[in-house]
Amino acid sequence: MSDDRYEVFAIRYGTVAARTRRENFMGLDPHETAPMPIDYYVWVVRNAARTIVVDTGFDHVEAKARGRELLRLPREGLGMVGVDPATIADVIVTHLHYDHAGTLDDFPQARFHLQETEMAYVTGACMCHTALQHPYSVEHVCQMVRRVYSGRVVFHDGDGAVAPGVTVHMLGGHSKGIQCVRVETARGPVVLASDTAHFYENMEAGKPFIITHDVEQTLRGYQRLRTLAASPAHIVPGHDPLVMARYPALDDRSAGIAARLDMAPRA
Ligand SMILES: [Zn+2]
Ligand SMILES: [Zn+2]
Repeated sequence: MSDDRYEVFAIRYGTVAARTRRENFMGLDPHETAPMPIDYYVWVVRNAARTIVVDTGFDHVEAKARGRELLRLPREGLGMVGVDPATIADVIVTHLHYDHAGTLDDFPQARFHLQETEMAYVTGACMCHTALQHPYSVEHVCQMVRRVYSGRVVFHDGDGAVAPGVTVHMLGGHSKGIQCVRVETARGPVVLASDTAHFYENMEAGKPFIITHDVEQTLRGYQRLRTLAASPAHIVPGHDPLVMARYPALDDRSAGIAARLDMAPRA
């Protein structure tokens, strides 16, 4: 594989099985109580030249506080695909929500790629409002501030390059400075949407997730995802259990845990 094409994995580390549709979409009728489980992922972008981790998940403390089921620590999931977090040089943090920016201490060598807008937002006046604080953990934010001061945060402003064939793109919407990740693969560019599209249905039906900073930006983000990816089948939503159903498992042991996103999904 050439230096600028990658294997891409989704690693499922958490879940909430007892979740309903009305908890996943804006503006749904309170009676929409059909089950709609949500999964939690981190991602790996890898080739012979480098390995990049996308997002760092949460730990047992955060899982307990928020009533989430932690299936395995993100570092344990990474270990299952042969990635040692202690050796990782580059971590892309799509946004600073609690389920994407915990366990930073497990990446002692890493530089963290983050949008300047997101860092300014989570350390600014908006965080005086409890409603806007809710998806963030002040501990995670403080840990990232320390990394700013120690020179371990790489700030991007809009579109940015992380490595040959790996770029980030700020879409906003769900959080003020959320970015997606575009990765060149053998099947063309794959886009890790993270929370710019939690579920396939968010994009396909134009229905934002229930936690949305800016509806207009969210809807524009769905359009941008389509322009960044080779096809709709190259966009990987950030929390959809269908990702594990549609993509091949890495190996026999990792069904439901690690999926190959650089391979074509089942329709
Ligand atoms: Zn989020
Ligand atoms: Zn999330």
